[in-house]
Amino acid sequence: MRLRRRLAVISTHTSPLARAGTTKAGGMNVYVSDLTRHLAEAGWDVDVYTRRDRVDAPEMEHLGQGVRLFHVDAGPPVSLPPIEIAAHVSDFTTGVQKLAVQSEPYDLIHSHYWVAGLSGIELSRQWQVPHAVMFHTLGALKEVFQQPEPPFRIAGERRVVACADAVIGATSHERAFLIGQYQADASRVQVVPCGVDLEMFHPAGVDQSRRRLAASLPGLCLDDGPGILFVGRLEQSKGADLLVEALPRIKSRPDTRLWIVGGDERDHAERARLSTLAADCGVAERVRFVNAVERTKLPDLYRAAAVCVVPSAYESFGLVAVEAMASGTPAVATRVGGLASTITDGETGLLVGDRQAPAFAAAIDRLLGDEPLRRQMGAAAAHQMSRYSWRSVTRSILDVYEELLSDRANSGSQREPCCPDSVESLLVAAG
Ligand code: UDP
Repeated sequence: MRLRRRLAVISTHTSPLARAGTTKAGGMNVYVSDLTRHLAEAGWDVDVYTRRDRVDAPEMEHLGQGVRLFHVDAGPPVSLPPIEIAAHVSDFTTGVQKLAVQSEPYDLIHSHYWVAGLSGIELSRQWQVPHAVMFHTLGALKEVFQQPEPPFRIAGERRVVACADAVIGATSHERAFLIGQYQADASRVQVVPCGVDLEMFHPAGVDQSRRRLAASLPGLCLDDGPGILFVGRLEQSKGADLLVEALPRIKSRPDTRLWIVGGDERDHAERARLSTLAADCGVAERVRFVNAVERTKLPDLYRAAAVCVVPSAYESFGLVAVEAMASGTPAVATRVGGLASTITDGETGLLVGDRQAPAFAAAIDRLLGDEPLRRQMGAAAAHQMSRYSWRSVTRSILDVYEELLSDRANSGSQREPCCPDSVESLLVAAG
């Protein structure tokens, strides 16, 4: 009998090594990276499989003790949007199988995002092991917020929901949506929130943080006092433009700066759009853009800011708000998805129901103009975020795994294939 259990993590469209805060990398990359590390510490051997998106990526590399990352050939070795990667799912699955025969069998599969879920279904059928999936974002949810998605994405997600042994949602809202809109079997949908690295994100001396930032990110202009912080991918749905428009309406501190942290050279068009907007609003001098930074720099940024604002159209969880609050800075965010459950309105931050610049300006003004309130909320926020510690999140994920393994042991190793159709036929049928 093996001492350590073995887990195959499928993260087809993006690697845990990708720089978070850029076009295709964000919360999911951070999540996979942190979760696999904690699972390895808890005694599992973890292999992560991702699609090769550059020629020179090694076939395998170690991410840390007990965690290996495999780059699987499937489609051209260049970066592709997830929708295009869906066409290479069968090749990817075959590639994983070929690599996996070199190692001991796996006990369980955990896939991330619907494209990976399609591979997870097939691998689970072949290896006869349970399959847990997390979607991180759902196509039908994006559509609620006016972001159309191709029909085959929703069809693919439905397939994964129907076939996975467990679906893990980050919030009870996501669970209800999976049951209501995707007809998920309620007994198979578990809620486990995302985790936050509390060793990295915690309150600490603000002056020291500002000094470190002044040296490492001189473009921030910290001299004018605490600013308004936006952190995230420069995607329109993230709403950085709302903050640019809110800036001239903030009366309590008319000189406050807005720091927009995220994106890189590939986002020049969006950055140009935001710069033009800032000029039109008469605040060009007060908006600072910073390319996506390593996560190690973010705690200082969160602490140095007066408030971190997440004006997204939707967030399934919204790690940035949790990281900011864990660092002792209140968050202002749209009252949607995960943000509505991680922020306690009026206690750890403010939730904005009306997703418009004036409403964000009013909420930011309330905090900027009242330092005692800000401090009180920041302290409450840091205290509350301990509920998202990786220790407790890893325990909850392991509980899901253990239940799947004992169900499988009780029902025998053979299981009827749930979804005999090929991925190709699914994509063709959905157009
Ligand atoms: N992030 C980062 N550097 C940046 C901007 C963002 O490391 O410059 C990380 C951030 O710490 C967070 C993640 O990217 O962990 C974004 O996650 P979130 O859930 O807020 O948004 P998503 O990108 O998943 O939509």
